[in-house]
Amino acid sequence: MSETSKGLRPTVEAWEWQLSGACRDADSELFFHPELERGAARQHRDAAALAICAECPVLRQCREHVLTHRENYGVWGGLTEDQRDAIWSGRTDKRRLRRAG
Ligand code: SF4
Repeated sequence: MSETSKGLRPTVEAWEWQLSGACRDADSELFFHPELERGAARQHRDAAALAICAECPVLRQCREHVLTHRENYGVWGGLTEDQRDAIWSGRTDKRRLRRAG
């Protein structure tokens, strides 16, 4: 193995967890809201996505990824957009959220 290919390996491994995500075969529209969705429709869709995340074997890795890479859209790692905004703005201590993994 060349030095170059060795150097690429960690990047591939860093994304491997996504292959085990419980959302892999789910409808992506559950995790990413349509434009201008608000209120009860948004709450119900978020709740359905969060229920899938709650059973996910890679929730910890997914949450780490989303918080590190600041994914702005969608439900990731058992967190809604609003929950992540609260963490990033310091309104919520991420340690107080349900422990992942
Ligand atoms: S934690 Fe949620 S968004 Fe992340 S891989 Fe699992 S099911 Fe998908």
